[in-house]
Amino acid sequence: MNAANGTKAGAPTRVLVINSGSSSVKYQLLDMTDHARLATGLVERIGERGGAADHAAALRQVADELDGQGLGLDSPRLAAIGHRVVHGGTRFTAPTLITDEVVTAIEELVPLAPLHNPANITGIKVTRELRPELPQVAVFDTAFHATIPEAAARYAIDLATADRYGIRRYGFHGTSHAFVSRATAALLGREPADTNVIVLHLGNGASASAVRGGVCVDTSMGLTPLEGLVMGTRSGDVDPAVVFHLERVGGLGTDEIDTLLNKRSGLLGLCGDNDMREIGRRMAEGDKAAQLAFDVYVHRLRRYIGAFSAVLGRVDAITFTAGVGENSAAVREAALLGLDNLGVTMDPVRNAVRGTGARLVSASSSRVAVAVVPTDEELEIARDTYALATE
Ligand code: AMP
Repeated sequence: MNAANGTKAGAPTRVLVINSGSSSVKYQLLDMTDHARLATGLVERIGERGGAADHAAALRQVADELDGQGLGLDSPRLAAIGHRVVHGGTRFTAPTLITDEVVTAIEELVPLAPLHNPANITGIKVTRELRPELPQVAVFDTAFHATIPEAAARYAIDLATADRYGIRRYGFHGTSHAFVSRATAALLGREPADTNVIVLHLGNGASASAVRGGVCVDTSMGLTPLEGLVMGTRSGDVDPAVVFHLERVGGLGTDEIDTLLNKRSGLLGLCGDNDMREIGRRMAEGDKAAQLAFDVYVHRLRRYIGAFSAVLGRVDAITFTAGVGENSAAVREAALLGLDNLGVTMDPVRNAVRGTGARLVSASSSRVAVAVVPTDEELEIARDTYALATE
């Protein structure tokens, strides 16, 4: 063993992380001795004109791109491949070494994640064909939330019906919530086991989680990633009767309503833009629709912060991450303004400073620390993958 990093001399140390999403494939090749990124890339617009024909073609393009850099999948230095898989249902509560049975089980979960799991499965199948003997690991977006107690995971609907169709709150973005909650404890110089954190993952998709002592106890996303916060194009929480109303009164079909709530709602639905930068620019010009979108977004965020403060009882930190959380001082400030009763006091100057690393933006006097922590889902997936592959 190499005492410095725990790897055996000459053993393969590289991990390829593949995120085969609904319309794109992202990849990163990491060296686990120093977490260096040896290659990163993105194949976009799958199935669209000018893009790869399908996911299989996109994956082959990834393999070719790596080959072209002398980092091909046949490299003896490659230890394993880690795949992001969106839905693990109740079956997968931890990263899992992929076998034929595991692939079948992920296929059985497609009805729970029809937009995501099929693309994830194609990613797994193509790379298994290319390197059949290489350890491959599935890292599930739902796994970190498997610890949520029944009281928070259950919807109050007929129990038998819920169980028959697998209806419960699973939660997503788990890899990010796990990474960021741990990094927050490190930033505070505490052990994760002694730290209670509200994590606000605000990207194009957005979710909040309540993490008590390193263990997730509640989250805002549910059966699917549609529930919870206002997102770029997703509505987040709506009265479920909105769906019946749109069908009965509006005459919309199920797929149309699905598309409306997932792709044409959220910030985009409210103001025509889903990019918080553009919304900020429009607000500065006095644009009322952009202001409304921002206000609805922030109101929902504050509701969840209040709710999760009550769920946790003691909150040590509130942490912002992902595109909006890491970059929008305006969203952070509006979300936490006037929460001194909850022990939260922002430092407006610290908050406004643009930074890249993990940092505190609360006042030194604040009982609850407010942090900005860049998420790194690829590193988290690579760590989980490497740990399982080298066990
Ligand atoms: P993500 O899904 O984490 O990549 O986040 C993407 C979102 O982050 C974009 O849709 C933008 O709205 C937001 N974003 C990125 N940079 C900024 C910025 N400088 N200020 C505000 N929002 C930003």
